Amino acid sequence: MSNVGVPIQPRDRRGYFMLPQAPEDAGYYVYGNVGGVPGTGHLAQYAHPNLLSLIFHIEREWQAIDDRKFGIGNISLAEGRKYEHDSHQKGIEMDIRPVRKDKLTGQAARVSRFDATYDRDATIRLLGLFLGHPMVSKVFFNDDKVQQALGGRVRSMRGHDDHIHIEIWERP
Ligand SMILES: [Zn+2]
Repeated sequence: MSNVGVPIQPRDRRGYFMLPQAPEDAGYYVYGNVGGVPGTGHLAQYAHPNLLSLIFHIEREWQAIDDRKFGIGNISLAEGRKYEHDSHQKGIEMDIRPVRKDKLTGQAARVSRFDATYDRDATIRLLGLFLGHPMVSKVFFNDDKVQQALGGRVRSMRGHDDHIHIEIWERP
């Protein structure tokens, strides 16, 4: 028996599926790890169905205006086990990377708001898409110009220079 063409999507006991690991035609790519171990990022990408819907919606909107992929990192571990984050246990929170000026993807594509490769305008457009969706409740990113451009709905939180924390309502 062959399962070619029929990918089995890992699912945890909450019934949450792992984010599809960035198919070729997706508007996003995946990155991240668990406990600093390379190649383990997918283990922290179990998402509530509402968050998956949001991701699939935004990646299509993003692809209509930009040909770069945005990076998605930690969401939650299977069964919502606790790990290095204080949050990220309910599958309703995810970290994404700021947009880069180039098209680099993958683990090496890390970029902070202080880097020359950081594309602020594109990051504002991407976060504008997320904030335009009624499901999104919180966005944390430390670039004050991004915060100003988006009407104060983006707030600062320690450590959020190289990633953006996006959270959805627990019950939309
Ligand atoms: Zn986060």
